[in-house]
Amino acid sequence: MTALHQPVAPTATGPLADARTQLREATTLLGYDEGLHQMLATPRREVTVSIPLRRDNGTTELFVGHRVQHNFSRGPAKGGLRYSPDVTLDEVRALAMWMTWKCALLDVPYGGAKGGVTIDPRHYSAAELERVTRRYTSEISPLIGPERDIPAPDIGTDEKTMAWLMDTYSVQQGHTVLGVTTGKPISLGGSRGRATATSRGVVHVALAALRSRGIEPSGATAAVQGFGKVGRYAARFLAEGGTRVLAVSDQYGAVYASSGLDIPALEQHVDATGSVVGFAGSEAIGNDDVLEAEVDLLVPAAVEGVLRGDNAGRVRARVIVEGANGPTTPEADRILQDADRLVVPDILANAGGVIVSYFEWVQANQAYWWSENEVEDRLAERMLAAWDSVNAAATRLDVPLRTAATCLAVERVAQAHQLRGLYP
Ligand code: GLU
Repeated sequence: MTALHQPVAPTATGPLADARTQLREATTLLGYDEGLHQMLATPRREVTVSIPLRRDNGTTELFVGHRVQHNFSRGPAKGGLRYSPDVTLDEVRALAMWMTWKCALLDVPYGGAKGGVTIDPRHYSAAELERVTRRYTSEISPLIGPERDIPAPDIGTDEKTMAWLMDTYSVQQGHTVLGVTTGKPISLGGSRGRATATSRGVVHVALAALRSRGIEPSGATAAVQGFGKVGRYAARFLAEGGTRVLAVSDQYGAVYASSGLDIPALEQHVDATGSVVGFAGSEAIGNDDVLEAEVDLLVPAAVEGVLRGDNAGRVRARVIVEGANGPTTPEADRILQDADRLVVPDILANAGGVIVSYFEWVQANQAYWWSENEVEDRLAERMLAAWDSVNAAATRLDVPLRTAATCLAVERVAQAHQLRGLYP
């Protein structure tokens, strides 16, 4: 490749800038030319769609949605669908790029994609969210499919969303296509173990990471930022393994107990009230206090960019395991590295979700479902193998885990791209 164009304009800050900084570091270390770098930095395909919604009260509202397919070199694109008021095209681009690296690093045969609709799902009824999902699916349906691009849940979406998406696509095709999404309900072609897979994976690598720093997990302390699909089960599995979870937050507030929070009771409180706030036997703290808590392990499990240049110096956890995508900015990474904190990067730490998504797609395509134990064993095996290979690469290259993970992933994608060659 010779002539260089920049189809996606550079951004100074935010997740896309962070994702590009990480990629630039990897392609520089790998010695790639600028043409190959641009190919890896730029989504293959993007679509933005309008989603008019008739509200339950008869008025209409318009939403905007995106689907970004970052890469197909290793297989169909794969990645979640996010419903959040903060969704932007640049955010979706960053998340799609991270999906490409995540799938490559874990050696699941996919490229990367992400979708998003700029909507706050908390303010809409289930019927309204169903209509939004069906309209969004209709608009992107030429681009998705089991061999093309396979959506899954992300922030603000869940197994119900995936059931509507699968049904809408299937109605358009004229037959049921279970493999068009993952993260479906188990009674509708979902996989056992998918709902908790991201958190299981987070905890597998968190325990390995703690041990690598000489910290015995049973008896260690942890803080978990976010109590949604990832943070909630991560807190549960950590507590089940004997780690004391001292601090937990959600979007409404944060709670702390110096002797450890009773996680099953906290889960009941959240189910009853919708938030961790007001949990009996805990002390209310600020959301930032969770990130800065005096603990062995910090699991940021919410959104991008929470550990930044302005607060990373106050992180006291020795090990940080990224349940969220992109929670640490490159500036924060440098500060944490200088302070000898171990950061286990998102593309490794939270890959359990897409691993079991892959298992779900395999099962759906074969119409043969595995037992929970089969899913859990294969998930653990893949997470720990990836942990070992990222550690070995970090030692070999003398770089932090994120750089090592990104290099391993980018190299696999670039190799597939080069072996296929350019056509035409
Ligand atoms: N949304 C999840 C992630 O960011 C899962 C994606 C998937 O299963 O395709 O990894």
